[in-house]
Amino acid sequence: MVHGHKGVRFQNWARTYGCCPEMYYQPTSVEEVREVLALARQQNKKVKVVGGGHSPSDIACTDGFMIHMGKMNRVLQVDKEKKQVTVEAGILLTDLHPQLDKHGLALSNLGAVSDVTAGGVIGSGTHNTGIKHGILATQAGQAQRLRTSSSAHLLFDGGRQGPSRDGSVQFSKWGQGSGQQPDDP
Ligand SMILES: Cc1cc2nc3c(=O)[nH]c(=O)nc-3n(C[C@H](O)[C@H](O)[C@H](O)COP(=O)(O)OP(=O)(O)OC[C@H]3O[C@@H](n4cnc5c(N)ncnc54)[C@H](O)[C@@H]3O)c2cc1C
Repeated sequence: MVHGHKGVRFQNWARTYGCCPEMYYQPTSVEEVREVLALARQQNKKVKVVGGGHSPSDIACTDGFMIHMGKMNRVLQVDKEKKQVTVEAGILLTDLHPQLDKHGLALSNLGAVSDVTAGGVIGSGTHNTGIKHGILATQAGQAQRLRTSSSAHLLFDGGRQGPSRDGSVQFSKWGQGSGQQPDDP
């Protein structure tokens, strides 16, 4: 069972915004995320997720439940042939780079910093410059969203594989992303 903490103060990376969530959770699995969401639903609490905390705003702040993704940071699968990896959404890109490198792979485009998570860059539309490059989310084939109001929903799909069932975010080779806008199922 997932344990929450009271009295945690969150501050973003630049220390320009902070908050004191009522409960702070660091789940280690999709099942534990589901537990937190079920609890929030029962208690009618709002939930915010935080990744690397690099957003230069109060966007991750909440006085409700905060889910910190730092313990869901694994590479789950590497398909060298398809140049696709499946990762948990809390992985920092700085930790992802060397793991990709081991397989002769790399993300084709990045923002200015890599102490940011897969979930954070996809969720916030992180980008670099260059007319030929999409935002980082265009490298993602599939992502799965968990909501307080129901179970799991496909966020967007590059159209190459079926929906991920493990709560992971899947990056694919540059140019293979769908470029579709997320649908709200
Ligand atoms: C020094 C610096 C340099 C930067 N350079 C660039 C740049 O070059 N280009 C650019 O576009 N941006 C840049 N940014 C902004 C940064 O890339 C984004 O703010 C990005 O969201 C940070 O990722 P994060 O993991 O820290 O997200 P957080 O700040 O932790 O969260 C950002 C948002 O995503 C949500 N979120 C995070 N993880 C999840 C998840 N798993 N599921 C659902 N929602 C989630 C949060 O609730 C929040 O709304 C920079 C920021 C800093 C501080």
